[in-house]
Amino acid sequence: MLTNDQLAAWDRDHFFHPSTALGAHARGETPPRVMSGGDGVFIEDRDGNRLLDAFAGLYCVNVGYGRRQIADAIAAQAQQLAYYHAYVGHGTEASITLAKMILDRAPQGMSKVFFGLGGSDANETNIKLVWYYNNILGRPEKKKIVSRWRGYHGSGLMTGSLTGLKLFHDKFDLPLAQVVHTEAPYFYRRADPSLSEAEFTAHCAAELETLIDREGPETIAAFIGEPVLGTGGLVPPPAGYWDAIQKVLDRHDILLIADEVVTGFGRLGSMFGSDHYGMRPDLITIAKGLTSAYAPLSGSIFGDRMWQVLMQGTDENGAIGHGWTYSAHPIGAAAGVANLKLIDEMGLVANAGAVGRHLRAALRDAVGDHPNVGDIRGEGMMAAVELVKDRDSRTFFDPTEKAAIRVVAALLSEGVIGRAMPQSDIVGFAPPLCLTTDEADQVATALGKAIRSVL
Ligand code: PLP
Repeated sequence: MLTNDQLAAWDRDHFFHPSTALGAHARGETPPRVMSGGDGVFIEDRDGNRLLDAFAGLYCVNVGYGRRQIADAIAAQAQQLAYYHAYVGHGTEASITLAKMILDRAPQGMSKVFFGLGGSDANETNIKLVWYYNNILGRPEKKKIVSRWRGYHGSGLMTGSLTGLKLFHDKFDLPLAQVVHTEAPYFYRRADPSLSEAEFTAHCAAELETLIDREGPETIAAFIGEPVLGTGGLVPPPAGYWDAIQKVLDRHDILLIADEVVTGFGRLGSMFGSDHYGMRPDLITIAKGLTSAYAPLSGSIFGDRMWQVLMQGTDENGAIGHGWTYSAHPIGAAAGVANLKLIDEMGLVANAGAVGRHLRAALRDAVGDHPNVGDIRGEGMMAAVELVKDRDSRTFFDPTEKAAIRVVAALLSEGVIGRAMPQSDIVGFAPPLCLTTDEADQVATALGKAIRSVL
């Protein structure tokens, strides 16, 4: 076995890590963390630390680590048939079964699922197919996509453009011209203090309407949004938000893409966020929770309205010119089938709702009255603790103070992994859906110690 020192040197010298300060890492200023095992909500590193992973990797290991059923299904599939493609109508028992299982669980009106590998490529698929749809309908000018500041939809060319965080645009020449951003429904930060949630919702819907009028409704193809804003700050929508947005979209014949990469398969305490909030999407993006990240797999679920037009398009123009070598990869599909069964058997959707509520209550007990805690919010198994310099004025910390980063580092010393959300002072939690109330209490106690030690 390689020594830790050897691994550290190879890592420093050869490995280009995503979302990492490259120079600092290559110079050894941020030592590598080599993870080596996990069970349930716990993960271990090569230094022998056992950590409670309260962010489920990147909010994806929904069933928890070390699940034999999924590992066995992957091994069996790899031995039987590790790969065959899905082009020109090919499939495997696993991929066909998984498509059926997804549609059985999906909101009403969904018709077909296209498989990809990760959330970014699934959203690229969505946008390409929205464009195809409008070309088939004879309205080639209806192509712009509305996304929200603070939304996260991936880091490809189009998906990085849809993502509403500057870090993903600056120096990359993004966003592309076909993307327009509207404001985030971020009640704590954006609402005038005199407004109720319902009034703020009306304000957000009016902002969207103004943007659509400015751009011209005939140029806008789709609106994309996460049911709960994830990477942009774990922000649940204000009361009535999705209903109000849907009405605006309906008025202008604009498609709705629900990006459920995080919220799909139980995270909000409902199978899908769309059902949780009564959304009526035309397209749903799924990834992470589909396999609990045991293997890479994503999907784009198409509603009937689009599907009919896509079929018409290929009848008129030949096979759809879109697909990946690894679409519906059998190993990912086998992982997905085993994972969805496990979610049902373990009752994880209900657990996410109940224990998520407990987690937020425990966080409020632990840090709710700390002078630097401005807001504690969330939905299902998602919780955010927003840090502020001053509670009354909600003033931000100076970015150089790195408040959330320091709190998350202190939290790690207490044996718990949380996440400093990008471009904000928000400490995020999105644990595996199997978290118990005792483990939730452990997270809250650790955060209390971390915040008091740092702020
Ligand atoms: N959409 C949402 C809502 C996400 O949170 C993410 C990733 O965090 C993505 C898309 C992109 O997924 P991936 O990183 O698998 O490409």
